[in-house]
Amino acid sequence: MTNMINFKNTKNVAKYLFGKGCLEQFDSVLPVLGNNPDSYNVYFIDYFFQDKELKSKLPIKPKDQVVFVDTTDEPKTTLIDQFASVLKEESTIPSCVIGVGGGSVLDIAKAVSNMLTNEGKSQDYQGWDLVKNPGVYKIGVPTLSGTGAEASCTCVLTNVERGIKLGMNSDHTMFDQLVLDPELTATVPRDQYFYSGMDTYLHCMESLNGSYRNVIIDALSQKAIELCREVFLSEDMMSEENREKMMIASYFGGCAAGNVGIVHPISAGLSIVLGSHHCIANCFAMKALEEFYKKEYAEFNQMIDKNNIFMPVGLCKNLSSEEYEKLYASSIVHEKPLTNALGEDFKKVLSKEKVFEIFRRI
Ligand code: ZN
Repeated sequence: MTNMINFKNTKNVAKYLFGKGCLEQFDSVLPVLGNNPDSYNVYFIDYFFQDKELKSKLPIKPKDQVVFVDTTDEPKTTLIDQFASVLKEESTIPSCVIGVGGGSVLDIAKAVSNMLTNEGKSQDYQGWDLVKNPGVYKIGVPTLSGTGAEASCTCVLTNVERGIKLGMNSDHTMFDQLVLDPELTATVPRDQYFYSGMDTYLHCMESLNGSYRNVIIDALSQKAIELCREVFLSEDMMSEENREKMMIASYFGGCAAGNVGIVHPISAGLSIVLGSHHCIANCFAMKALEEFYKKEYAEFNQMIDKNNIFMPVGLCKNLSSEEYEKLYASSIVHEKPLTNALGEDFKKVLSKEKVFEIFRRI
């Protein structure tokens, strides 16, 4: 018998509503609640919007629950378990879980939805295809563009006990419905808008520079990068038109969900050891990786300069040798992306001394 290729059966988000002001139609995409008089929906909303009028624009009914999520830290498995157990104590679980926010809030909504219909703890499902039952119907409303969390089949959770960041990678993790309204990104602070947007750019360029490729992923990645260029090399990266383009670039980047390269493992090291948020950590990493991504490094710097973005320096300057060891360990552990970028022998290129040198530049 000839060698069989194991093709991946790919799922995408089933439905999306897209366009400026489409949030007003949100009510029409909510699933109809059944006859149970206790039925309700739960909203997870980024606390950035706590005092803003966004809440009044959402179709929140009296029985619904609203949770404002503190996104100072990226989501932990323990937080997901806490949210899920509180909802499981109600007379019935919610009919629909809605996430309104950036990547962290979207990931929380996806993870909680899964945990409402699956036994045990969220850490039991960190990995590939471990989620057994479909979660509760989930709707994503991104208020920040770039991570692609709205379109991907994962939700990244930090597991402090195990010292890892790993997603629940499963078709069940994918949103059933998206509401993509570019109006929602109008109030994002400029630097944050840039760092998040760069997550799309970096995912896609890492994917296109890697060896694990396919035509669909390449096409989506190329288009996402093209849109990023239009946005970040223009006069106003946050114009109405550009916010719309960035929302679609993020969606394409999430659909592509290609294999990353060296940026993401270095970024993960910074997140684990220093608690840096994913998107800015990627930018720190890219700043130190000129030798691996020459062309993109130049373009990345051009985008930073064009938009006058603040990039802190000297982050790893005064760290102890113990912390450097941890940075090395939590980066080099990401074998799949590093193999994608550098081949099986990636440790020959990324020796411990080389990795230390990279972090010393940050
Ligand atoms: Zn990323």
